Amino acid sequence: MQRVLFHQTIFGPIHSRRLGASLGVNLSPTDGKVCSFDCLYCEAGYNAQGPGTSGLPSRETVASQLEEKLRTMSAEGAALDVITFSGNGEPTMHPDFAGIIDDTIALRDKYYPEVKISVLTNSTRLYKDDVAKALRRVDNNIMKLDSANGHTVALLDRPVDKRYRVDDIIEQIAGFGREGIVQTMITRGVHNGIAVDNTTEEEIAGLIAAYKKIMPREVMIYTIDRKTPEQSLQRVSLDELKSIADRITRETGLTVQVSG
Ligand code: SF4
Repeated sequence: MQRVLFHQTIFGPIHSRRLGASLGVNLSPTDGKVCSFDCLYCEAGYNAQGPGTSGLPSRETVASQLEEKLRTMSAEGAALDVITFSGNGEPTMHPDFAGIIDDTIALRDKYYPEVKISVLTNSTRLYKDDVAKALRRVDNNIMKLDSANGHTVALLDRPVDKRYRVDDIIEQIAGFGREGIVQTMITRGVHNGIAVDNTTEEEIAGLIAAYKKIMPREVMIYTIDRKTPEQSLQRVSLDELKSIADRITRETGLTVQVSG
């Protein structure tokens, strides 16, 4: 089954379509995946493929490895745009997420004060006070919302906690207002004989209504880039993405970044 893991806690820098020269921080295991979603398109594979054996890196390990990397890069004069929390799962599930953000801000200020800190989150832990406060301290909190329809989220993102309610998540993202960035995967396919499609009129209208409620700093829409565990998922054309982006901007006034 398709799976590509980051085998380090600090990885890169890599060139990201959305973020530029990005030094990655993986708060998940280095030989498995831990996430509160189980997206059909997850490059780290399905949750059933296992969390591995390495466990989560400690706060101390993250800080020391990040410092080592930043010190070396700075001494070499290496370019860096952003430190990005992503990796093999959901970073906000780490029990020391807030403390790790504090350490990262201090190290960024010491070695690369102009560099941004981004967190890619699936938005399932925004209800936690410490997580929400930590996200407010970073430059770019990039929160996933793939559909405003709970049925579609259940098919595409497959929340592990069955109490997940997309309306609650939209409320929580809206609490960030202009401090937040919303990221939406646009795709369609079939899984276990059931169509999954967030490009329909109903889906796009639902997303636009949610974006209007949230009014984030920016919306990012993107599509499948690499092989996915559910291989029927399609890469949507750049023209279609641009036309969706134009409609979002027309109806909400929001800036929409497209990566196709
Ligand atoms: S939220 Fe991200 S890490 Fe989690 S399953 Fe989805 S794509 Fe994978």
